[in-house]
Amino acid sequence: MSAKINFIIDGQQCQSEEGKFLVDAAKDNGVYIPTLCNYEGLKPKGSCRICTVKINGRFTTACTSPVHDGMNIENNTAELNEMRKQIIELLFVSGNHFCPACEKSGDCELQALAYRYKMMAPRFPFAFPQKEIDASHPKIIKEQNRCILCKRCIRGIKDEDGKSYFAYQYRGKDSLVVVDRKLAAEMTMEKAQEAMDICPVGSIIVREKGWEIPIGERKYDNAPIGSDIENK
Ligand code: SF4
Repeated sequence: MSAKINFIIDGQQCQSEEGKFLVDAAKDNGVYIPTLCNYEGLKPKGSCRICTVKINGRFTTACTSPVHDGMNIENNTAELNEMRKQIIELLFVSGNHFCPACEKSGDCELQALAYRYKMMAPRFPFAFPQKEIDASHPKIIKEQNRCILCKRCIRGIKDEDGKSYFAYQYRGKDSLVVVDRKLAAEMTMEKAQEAMDICPVGSIIVREKGWEIPIGERKYDNAPIGSDIENK
């Protein structure tokens, strides 16, 4: 077992194993650092930037930063929370997110973060991009309007040979995460559910199984995102 090290988050003394990623080390100490592209069991990428903190005064992503002895971390500050709110607003205006009509409402991490950081109307103009819904696969629907391009599905949903069911297509503003038609044709119901669960928003939806849990009884309806960590 690695040696325990000491570090500080927002003035709170914390302990962890040397080298553990900061989001996880913070979690062990009852401190919530928000994430979107990060997912337990997957190699962190630091692409969404929502977990940005300041370590010894420098901005960095908490999901890719291992903790070391003596680190001084700022997390829950007005500056960082404002930056997180701006990222959330940008994600909302760059896609087409209509929460009341989304199967993932109440289970959606983006929506839950918008509530946490008190987003009202985004300050940026809506892009209203023209995106297709791909309903051509037997087990899942890929709703491109809601995809935030976090790549959790590409990194996490694979077949037994390690081939990913999802892939990136195009670049820049035209970027899309698409479904491998051949693999999707063989997709099991369990894999489809896994794909829906790994997606932080409602971009991967299992077919013919909607609204099993009513709105009002879903994950974030009664327990805001992060509260499970903070109330441990
Ligand atoms: S489909 Fe979901 S998991 Fe995949 S990249 Fe888009 S938002 Fe992320």
